[in-house]
Amino acid sequence: ELTEKLEATFARLRGRGVLTEADIKEGLREVRRVLLEADVNFQLTRQFLERVEQKAIGVTQLRGVNPAQQLVKVVYDELTAMLGERQEGLKLSTIPPTVVMMVGLQGSGKTTTAGKLARKLKAEGRQTRLIAADVYRPAAIDQLETLGQQLDIPVYADRSTKDVVRIARDGIEQAKRARDRVVIVDTAGRLQIDAELMDELKRLKAAVQPTEILFVADGMTGQEAVRIAQGFDEALNVTGVILTKMDGDARGGAALSIYGITKKPIKYIGVGEKLDALEDFHPDRMAGRILQQGDILTLVEKAQSTFDEAEAKRLEKKVRKEGMDFEDFLTTLKQMQKLGPLEGLLKLLPGVNASMLKQAKIDPKRMKHIEAIVLSMTPAERKKPDLMNGSRRLRIAKGSGRTVTEVNQLLDQFKQMQKMMKMMTGGGRMPGFPGMPG
Ligand code: GDP
Ligand code: MG
Repeated sequence: ELTEKLEATFARLRGRGVLTEADIKEGLREVRRVLLEADVNFQLTRQFLERVEQKAIGVTQLRGVNPAQQLVKVVYDELTAMLGERQEGLKLSTIPPTVVMMVGLQGSGKTTTAGKLARKLKAEGRQTRLIAADVYRPAAIDQLETLGQQLDIPVYADRSTKDVVRIARDGIEQAKRARDRVVIVDTAGRLQIDAELMDELKRLKAAVQPTEILFVADGMTGQEAVRIAQGFDEALNVTGVILTKMDGDARGGAALSIYGITKKPIKYIGVGEKLDALEDFHPDRMAGRILQQGDILTLVEKAQSTFDEAEAKRLEKKVRKEGMDFEDFLTTLKQMQKLGPLEGLLKLLPGVNASMLKQAKIDPKRMKHIEAIVLSMTPAERKKPDLMNGSRRLRIAKGSGRTVTEVNQLLDQFKQMQKMMKMMTGGGRMPGFPGMPG
């Protein structure tokens, strides 16, 4: 049925190509939903969307390249920027040993991560020592020593004192004598930030002059994560973040917001309880993962539109009643230029097969030439192509800067297309579209 066919075609055409501001708004509403659902900080989400929207408005003005893909790229780039731009590894001091301090709340994963990090450094050929500076729970020292035994990495501990500054200093002295490259100081945490804990950590920091102060955050913490990170950062000026328990089904968005708010890079993520479950954090990869989670790629594609709905309806009605003239053709041509690769569009049209697509090498220049020719026609000629006799064709050729042969070719192809539009009533095949060779 013609109506059905045309309707289906226009519906599919609407599914590609041009993005209006309304489309972008709709797409970004979905992005917003996905980010908030992933538990990304609310403030950060708002700022993020403002930036994306600003950049995306520019995309509506771009032609020729798939605007939806461009919008996805804008979202992806901004998300990557929000997560930290690039992967950052551990900073090492020029004078060994490099001192790394692990800080964070109780249960966040400091001790486990200290072990994971030591294992990683050892595998890189850097002799590493662990220092047990969590003296409040006896089990904490045992835990670190067990890890050290498993990894065959030395652990410095002193059960005779509660003076963490002294323990750390002595541990570093021992590391210097042993010519260790790195020492990792495991510290105590509390269930929440308190002044006493911060005070101890500040004194420890002043005494050991760490190259890195790594804030360890439980990836499952939720919105509290950002506030806790800010608290540690204000007191200690942390140099990096490690997110643990990113292997769970936690949405992780809250922890991922830590960089956006504190600008302290997420360096590693913990993805399991085992000691090899530590990964470098790549902002771009994480951005890709979040996008996939929300299936934003599809959502943005959905938000694309080609023909303005009303315009498409009008055109369809008119073509069905009166056939196509060059005015309609011009409208269609303009839409097609916004569509980007014409091959993609052609695939959507009924009756186009693979071998036709192979031949269909669309030259955007030729599309421009065609437009020039049509624009050189008078409105009357566009309505009634039969008016264009030899002398009128010559005038059009001169007016458009094209040859008469090209004008003739276009008129021939146009006639074929008119026929095709009529044939669609009977379900015929589609001849070549003007602008395509053959
Ligand atoms: P600390 O109190 O900050 O030293 O935390 P711990 O290192 O003792 O870790 C607390 C709990 O979290 C332990 O049961 C760890 O096995 C677990 N844990 C730490 N990191 C990860 C991780 O990346 N994934 C999972 N699943 N569990 C982790
Ligand atoms: Mg611990």
